[in-house]
Amino acid sequence: LFAGETDFLKGVVAMDGMPPADRIEVCFAGRSNVGKSSLINAVTGRKALARTSNTPGRTQEINFFTLADSHYLVDLPGYGFAEAPVAVVQKWQRLLKAYLSGRQTLRRAFVLIDARHGIKPVDEEILNLLNSSAVTFQVVLTKVDKLKKGQLDKTVAQVSAALQKHPAAFPELVLTSSEKGDGIPTLRQIIAELV
Ligand code: GDP
Repeated sequence: LFAGETDFLKGVVAMDGMPPADRIEVCFAGRSNVGKSSLINAVTGRKALARTSNTPGRTQEINFFTLADSHYLVDLPGYGFAEAPVAVVQKWQRLLKAYLSGRQTLRRAFVLIDARHGIKPVDEEILNLLNSSAVTFQVVLTKVDKLKKGQLDKTVAQVSAALQKHPAAFPELVLTSSEKGDGIPTLRQIIAELV
């Protein structure tokens, strides 16, 4: 599935621009700067597939990538960018809501959480939206290389506890570092089994 056959298909700003839901897909969501581009690049083995941007929140598009010509990997726009204008945030929320509630072929959403920060209120909003849309989601902790074991254990406990009130949450967390490669094979395996 990840043997170098991942390609960018299109960036979508409105529902009518979505590719037809004719194949199984997974999506990635996360706060701006959580390491989403780096993780998508690491998982797909493509160095600059998802733009690694130092301007958080720059991309307001839903980006579709084809996996092995037979599936989609979907990169949702980063959220929680403090300086984003209200109108932009509202437009983004509408698009996201429409995508999550209307995409029959979406198998799982991976919600990225920075291992140093745990789940923040802005993440809770997305988790609530996923729940109300009945989209199964799984939390992926990012940048685990930045933490000592004890700190990481603390985040895992906090996140696991927070997930208990979310029926749509898949309980198992994936601990990753795009920098060091931790958890990348595991995440690939999970995606391969889903699609
Ligand atoms: P995005 O905004 O969510 O797409 O985040 P990026 O992928 O652009 O990453 C944001 C910043 O975090 C960049 O400076 C990355 O180099 C850094 N980063 C991303 N993943 C990791 C990781 O696994 N470990 C470390 N130490 N830094 C990371």
